Amino acid sequence: MQIIDGKKVSALVKEEVKKQTLELKEQYGITPGLAVVIVGDDPASRVYVNNKKKACELVGFKSEEFSLPAETTQEELLNLVKTLNEKKDINGILVQLPLPEHLDDKAVIEAINPLKDVDAFHAVNVGKIMLGEYDFMPCTPAGVMEMLHSYNIPVNGKNCVVIGRSNIVGKPMAMLLLHENGTVTICHSCTQNLAEICSKADILVAAVGKPKFVTADMVKEGAVVIDVGMDRDENGKLCGDVDFENVKDKCSYITPVPGGVGPMTVATLMKNTLKAAKIQNNL
Ligand code: NAP
Repeated sequence: MQIIDGKKVSALVKEEVKKQTLELKEQYGITPGLAVVIVGDDPASRVYVNNKKKACELVGFKSEEFSLPAETTQEELLNLVKTLNEKKDINGILVQLPLPEHLDDKAVIEAINPLKDVDAFHAVNVGKIMLGEYDFMPCTPAGVMEMLHSYNIPVNGKNCVVIGRSNIVGKPMAMLLLHENGTVTICHSCTQNLAEICSKADILVAAVGKPKFVTADMVKEGAVVIDVGMDRDENGKLCGDVDFENVKDKCSYITPVPGGVGPMTVATLMKNTLKAAKIQNNL
């Protein structure tokens, strides 16, 4: 069994982004800029935003944070997005989700210029992912693919099972695996015989949001298990959707939580922001 080291792979990705960012600055005087918008004071969102800002610093981007109070109105938020759409020095706009309940996150995402939508959540970018002709990769699923590539894990012809069908993770994850010729099954809360389906997977991706949901009986001997979950166990400690201790010895490869998929998501965000800067400058 080999543990897939997301920290290591993400460091390599960020190193490459840093190198290209420096070239962009030296050759064209362009510094990619990411605007991060956070509404309210959700502690988990705050941690994610800080990680994204730190990554920007590391790769040499400019990052601008817009921290808005929880009572911000829809109109105020849309106006900020409009302003950021116009700003030349901002290449990527990221609105940290979830938004407070009175705000319509769908409308906010649709207001972002698709060329600045570095999370790849806008319908235009989602459509492009479906077509396999994307500018921006969906951050978490693309991070998973990067890890598979980095460890030379083939997808072509493999039986891939994704548990979860969210727009952010499950659906685009399935698409990327399909684009690489995996035979993909998507499972969700209405799936019958879930354990049986999972136990046939060569590559099993868990994006459920339930601590230690994937147990050893659901995993095939020698499977590759990717844990997207960011959950809390009974003691409040960060854990994944996979019962790591009991599952790991059955796997050929497994991602840990923390230190697996999480850092990869941020690394892809950096790649997307660099790409956005290049596209907007016709490079
Ligand atoms: P989500 O929107 O809540 O989706 C969860 C999915 O799991 C849904 O499709 C749901 O099915 C399915 N599900 C729930 N209970 C199930 C069950 N008993 N059997 C089978 N399927 C079940 O969550 P998400 O945004 O995709 O996130 C999933 C997890 O990934 C969370 O822990 C989240 O924190 C984590 N995450 C991590 C990163 C990262 O960077 N590492 C990024 C994003 C998310 P239905 O559709 O039928 O309800």
